[in-house]
Amino acid sequence: MNLYSGKMNRLVEELSSLPGIGYKSAGRLADYLIRQPAEKVKSLTEAMLDARENVHYCKICYTLTDNDTCPICADESRDAKTIMVVEDTRDLMAYEKTGKYTGVYHVLQGAISPLMGIGPNDIRLKELMARLSGDVKEIIIATNSSLEGETTAMYISKLVKQLPTGIRVSRIASGVPVGGDLENIDEITLLRALEGRTEL
Ligand code: ZN
Repeated sequence: MNLYSGKMNRLVEELSSLPGIGYKSAGRLADYLIRQPAEKVKSLTEAMLDARENVHYCKICYTLTDNDTCPICADESRDAKTIMVVEDTRDLMAYEKTGKYTGVYHVLQGAISPLMGIGPNDIRLKELMARLSGDVKEIIIATNSSLEGETTAMYISKLVKQLPTGIRVSRIASGVPVGGDLENIDEITLLRALEGRTEL
């Protein structure tokens, strides 16, 4: 039985397909949306379409950006010899918010997960290895402390150590709770994890 009208039902179904939005929240959002001025809803849908069509990956670090190169990679004052490896753009944002990290990033766009069938070729690992042929002195692995994050960290560490270049590989300290997403952790904990990083 559909509790909503056909059109409301479609909206609720669409909204509840979004990550983290259950059927109840979708109902609340739909109810909110239909009460807004048409202009506001139009602006929201335009922002979604515009982002979908025009946001892509930075050609250097693979974070999301409007341009070929993201503002961090384009910033010459950043230390391009230190690369922090994170799982996604939200993790990058978490470290950027601390304002204390001056290196650059590499965004894997995922983590290795044998359970989910996500292998090394499904994330931006080849692209990371390609960057390491340049002038790089340290890789800071800041993947999440979940099973997938740890697996990915170990995998990258092994790959980098096989290189003849002697790049330092470190892992952020485990002040970060197990299974915790970096984006949910406060800035002080993030900085401590960075400062207390250990060589792998
Ligand atoms: Zn970039």
